[in-house]
Amino acid sequence: MPRFLLLVVLLFAALPGLAQVTPRASLLIRNGRVVDGTGNAWFLADVAVQGGRIVAVGRLAADYPADTVIDARGLVVAPGFIDVHTHIEDDEVKQPTADNFIYDGVTTVITGNCGSSRPDLGRYFSFLDSLHLSVNVASLVGHGTLRKEVMGRANRAPTEAELGQMEGLVARAMQAGAVGLSSGLIYIPGTYSRPAEMARLARVVGRYRGIYATHMRNEGDSVQQAIREALWVGKEAGLPVEISHFKLSGQPNWGQADKTLGLVQEARLAGQEVTIDQYPYTASSTSLSTLIPDAVQADGRDSLRARLSRPAVRAATEAAMVKRLKQRRLRHFSYAVVASFPPDTSYNGLSIEAINQKRGRPHKAKAEAATVLDLVLQHDAGMVFHGMSEADVQQIMRYPFNMVGSDASIRVWRQGVPHPRGYGSNARVLGRYVRELQLIGLEEAVRRMTSLPAQTFGLPDRGLLRPGMAADLVVFDPAVVADKSTFTQPHQYSVGMRYVLVNGKMTVRNGQHTGRRSGQVLFGPGRQVPESAPVRKGG
Ligand SMILES: [Zn+2]
Repeated sequence: MPRFLLLVVLLFAALPGLAQVTPRASLLIRNGRVVDGTGNAWFLADVAVQGGRIVAVGRLAADYPADTVIDARGLVVAPGFIDVHTHIEDDEVKQPTADNFIYDGVTTVITGNCGSSRPDLGRYFSFLDSLHLSVNVASLVGHGTLRKEVMGRANRAPTEAELGQMEGLVARAMQAGAVGLSSGLIYIPGTYSRPAEMARLARVVGRYRGIYATHMRNEGDSVQQAIREALWVGKEAGLPVEISHFKLSGQPNWGQADKTLGLVQEARLAGQEVTIDQYPYTASSTSLSTLIPDAVQADGRDSLRARLSRPAVRAATEAAMVKRLKQRRLRHFSYAVVASFPPDTSYNGLSIEAINQKRGRPHKAKAEAATVLDLVLQHDAGMVFHGMSEADVQQIMRYPFNMVGSDASIRVWRQGVPHPRGYGSNARVLGRYVRELQLIGLEEAVRRMTSLPAQTFGLPDRGLLRPGMAADLVVFDPAVVADKSTFTQPHQYSVGMRYVLVNGKMTVRNGQHTGRRSGQVLFGPGRQVPESAPVRKGG
């Protein structure tokens, strides 16, 4: 195979410091069905890895020199999956082997989503570098985080000076290597911002060729308006938009996916860069405090406590919460299940309806709203909210420019009753939606887990199985791959990933995590821009 030999020689000549190394592979994966991430049909090939890179792909010579050979007959060999929507901050220290992601085939996570990141990304990247995770990490910078730095939890528009300060922080984050800006417009303080504020900050991100990833202002009754807002920000600021965890929340809004996807498609046809991501489940997961009206929560916990100590405010708050429940056509907070409540772990896995009864209160929505307030005043809880339809999930999944994003943290084994998406998102797409329901093809699913995320988030040497690319690889059994994690028994790893390589290092061997921690920080395209680059102030 002279063509491949030539490729190998050229590659080694091109890599400084490796010119003297022979093309001997540290690892050779033989006879696999290569699904290369482009979406093209699988083909039978061998894959050679050396020095953390893929060095050859094709029918390689029988005597191709290699230290280790894996026979992948009947197995799929694909680029490692890139999970575009995660929240690993805090739990990365507790479980640096990131088993939930690794067993799900994920070799790169993008964190800092929903407006929440580490405030100083330069420092965070150094920290990750010293920690050594099993997965690669890229990060967005969170709008909510920066707004909190500058304005606290104030419920108002920023002054021009504050906006300038935020622009400076965004620029600094992009120079540190952020891949873009994230917003969380249902959270405090993101919810207090107006679109013009976001456009100003997004314009800075665009200058560094980053992306704007948004947890929109609404995913239910006003979802179309929220999509229009996201598109407006992207257009105004001149940068690509990623709409996070695309969904239709609340029964009255089910069945509108043709309209919401239509808005996305319409924008693309008009020349706007916009993509979406999704986790393949009919429940969402976020904090309990999102059930409480935003205005009551302004300025932090002490202010919330002070406001709720006034009986009239408390009654009005409970009434507003019950009204929202009725709008969802529900009589009880049964759809809201506690994932994690540190002050009383016996609540984990129970619905608000059940907890309210456990506390000996009347079986009434109003009493349940009061229970929510009491819990939040004690400590915010992590929740699972059952509020989507399977038909919508499937229709959204068919959309070709939709990626998989688990919206999960690094799971700490047996801690709480978290949403299963943190364990099984990718394996669930491959097992349930590709193999069982045949909703999308295998190559198409892999493309959305690999090259589409790499292109969207600016990771040029990831997401494709080609010589010269980083050796992030998964070798899985397409007949076996499946998620095992459920809502009641979430702490179960996905099955079917036979081998997982991160930067060429064997992280799963014969289905078992080896403990290897060879993940790297992946920097965004703005990192090379010098500190002195002028940041244009928008109007
Ligand atoms: Zn979110």
